[in-house]
Amino acid sequence: MKEAVQGIRALDIKGVSVTIPHKVAIIDYLDEVDDIAGKIGAVNTVVNRGGRLIGYNTDWSGAIAALEAQVDLKGRKALVLGAGGAARAIAFGLKEKGADFTILNRTVHKAERLASELGVHYGSLEDSASVSFDTVINTTSLGMHPNVHDTPLKKALLKDVLVFDMVYNPLKTRLIRDAEENGCTTIMGLEMFINQAAQQFALWTRDRAPFDVMKKVVVEALS
Ligand code: NAP
Repeated sequence: MKEAVQGIRALDIKGVSVTIPHKVAIIDYLDEVDDIAGKIGAVNTVVNRGGRLIGYNTDWSGAIAALEAQVDLKGRKALVLGAGGAARAIAFGLKEKGADFTILNRTVHKAERLASELGVHYGSLEDSASVSFDTVINTTSLGMHPNVHDTPLKKALLKDVLVFDMVYNPLKTRLIRDAEENGCTTIMGLEMFINQAAQQFALWTRDRAPFDVMKKVVVEALS
């Protein structure tokens, strides 16, 4: 990580995208981190402004934009599955927007740690049947290629709820297919993926991202 960041400085690279598993570790090597990325504790975007490396997080705003295209989040009762980096990003966004939510994770102590930072409920992934929710957000990697038959939630629990799966490979996960078969409204991980990238583009170039071109390219690549 240290050498990679030295390389950004030496080559005067204007911006980089940071992904798993470096989003937390990179923070120590930056000159500045914006407020919300600091609270989330993860950076997925670095902007080089005149030699100063500044960290941002566009995962949270990309995810929130995908949700807000469908619903008003204030007062929404959400179930967040997972407690890793992507969960931290969406959880801070949900809190900011006034949603009420529960975090469930396979490793319960990680859910407990995140929930205690935000003052929300938590539990094990196996507790999902006992939580009442109108929105479910999968931030686990269950269902991701190559394990495309996996799903984090029983199909029977997907009734009259909004289902957002952050997994974008495959484009349509088993969770999304189950939700569609039950008549639920769905949001695919692709929406967040493009939103967060468009926001990165704007940070790097101070210009609007060519959203439709980006979407076309990513759909072609993942189809
Ligand atoms: P991460 O920090 O490694 O977290 C992974 C999460 O998945 C943890 O909660 C982990 O639970 C859980 N998990 C992994 N395998 C599991 C299994 N077999 N059973 C139950 N739970 C399991 O990864 P991340 O950065 O949060 O990314 C998570 C997913 O979100 C990935 O699929 C990633 O591609 C996707 N993502 C999408 C976007 C987008 O733009 N659409 C952006 C960011 C991330 P434990 O704590 O118990 O290990």
